[in-house]
Amino acid sequence: MSRSFDVVVIGAGPAGYIAAIRAAQHGLSVACIDEWKNRDGKNAFGGTCLNAGCIPSKALLESSELVHRAQHEFKKHGIQTGEVSVDVATMQKRRAGIVRQLTSGVAGLLKANKIEGLVGHGKLLADTKVEFTPVDGDAEIVDARNVILAAGSTPIELKIAPFDGTQIIDSWDALELEVVPERLGVVGAGVIGLELGSVWSRLGSNVTVLEAMDDFLFMADRDVAAVTAKEFKKQGLDIKLGAKVTSAKAGASGVTVQYDDKDGAQSIEVDQLVVAVGRRPFVDGLLADDSGIQLDERGFIVVDDECRTRVKGVYAIGDCVRGPMLAHKGSEEGVMVADLIAGETAEVNYNVIPSVIYTSPEIAWVGQNEAEVKASGRAYKTGSFPFAASGRAKAMEQTIGMVKIISAQDDDEILGAHIVGPMAGELISEIVLAMEFSASTEDIQRTIHAHPSLAEAVHEASLAVDNKALNYPNK
Ligand code: FAD
Ligand code: NAD
Repeated sequence: MSRSFDVVVIGAGPAGYIAAIRAAQHGLSVACIDEWKNRDGKNAFGGTCLNAGCIPSKALLESSELVHRAQHEFKKHGIQTGEVSVDVATMQKRRAGIVRQLTSGVAGLLKANKIEGLVGHGKLLADTKVEFTPVDGDAEIVDARNVILAAGSTPIELKIAPFDGTQIIDSWDALELEVVPERLGVVGAGVIGLELGSVWSRLGSNVTVLEAMDDFLFMADRDVAAVTAKEFKKQGLDIKLGAKVTSAKAGASGVTVQYDDKDGAQSIEVDQLVVAVGRRPFVDGLLADDSGIQLDERGFIVVDDECRTRVKGVYAIGDCVRGPMLAHKGSEEGVMVADLIAGETAEVNYNVIPSVIYTSPEIAWVGQNEAEVKASGRAYKTGSFPFAASGRAKAMEQTIGMVKIISAQDDDEILGAHIVGPMAGELISEIVLAMEFSASTEDIQRTIHAHPSLAEAVHEASLAVDNKALNYPNK
């Protein structure tokens, strides 16, 4: 007799494993299928985020930031060191250790919640049945009352620069390099290009980033993009805008990358080339021909606002559906879907999803940027506060950047916030919460913020919206 569950989740990344846990919390019987295999040949839960994305990249960003600070800031604090050297193998061992701890933590969480963690491939058949093929056994058909597809995404490969795993590489390979390349090329100045470009640049590589768009960080507020571009330039990251890569050829002396820019055809030679031009939904082998699931023209599973596919009882969440490819977006969709399956009312507020780029300075935003608000036609006001005027930022030797808040002229509703500077990714949470509670900037103005703290910059930027900043001259 086939096994039967209330909910079968395919994919144990941050979307899938969170959906599984929340469903189990509702008292439902749950199985979670995942086939992820790491480079050591071992299977692991946690998906891209824990194994090859958010977590390992942040581990290396932290290590490389410490190298940078030891080399450039310690002297200002009066701390003497000998020459700072880097042991990449130890750095990578730490990264791998963090990944191992967290992925086995997910396995433990599944167990603690009495979720059947099934290691192998899942395929959706007709009538909410799932074919499960274990890594070391025969396929079985599992009955499910509900199925949640959380299959994630995979890097986009360029035909003109196909991955070879050694010289032309994807973001996962770039996280596992054992030697600092002397010359590293990166295609795409998006989130991955900037985060990984920063890591290897701080560890001593000469990094050139080729970006097809003319505007730097086109998705960010222009004030934030301007500060960031200047800082990255100072740090030695060579970002070439309007650079359309036309070919990449790997050879004995490195990779020859050709691109076109406003001055015509150009060429650079690098030791390794990271291609980071976005990710595509990963649905390979996920759907039987008669599953009834619809894909859009870019391969995303078509869902409504509540992540329902057009097949009753089948939902899809995370990177394999529309919306930003962010771990926290997928997790919240997972919670929503599990609550809906349990008969509760639930929704995701897609207007209030924070974005963070973990470079130094860190970049974070939520809501609309100034150009978007302007285009919407709504009258607005803005307030900014520079970290150079923050006592805490000065003490931390991290005075680059600012907090900028945009609110509506008529009712002071917060429309967006844009931060570049220390702990931007932590500071943005205050605004996310404020927006979720429909707070105004006046609500933040009247909230006590600890002194001295970086959060005071959020307070002062809120005050500046009404020309009431206390620790910086108003407009
Ligand atoms: P995934 O994490 O991709 O998980 C999907 C899982 O499903 C995988 O384990 C896969 O093996 C499994 N699977 C797929 N198909 C099947 C099948 N048929 N059968 C069995 N198993 C299957 N986001 C952030 O929010 N913050 C960050 O700092 C951040 N940093 C990143 C850094 C890098 C280098 C990269 C590449 C991504 C980063 N992201 C970050 C994006 C984040 O990793 C993704 O948004 C997130 O992992 C998506 O979660 P998911 O659960 O939808 O999919
Ligand atoms: P991205 O969409 O952020 O950036 C891709 C960049 O490549 C864009 O700037 C694009 O203009 C450029 N590009 C595309 N084709 C090009 C070409 N042929 N030549 C030159 N440039 C080209 O994608 P990504 O950096 O690959 O990241 C993938 C996803 O992973 C993103 O959606 C992101 O949300 C997620 N991610 C998030 C974080 C984070 O939250 N901190 C970190 C890493 C990745």
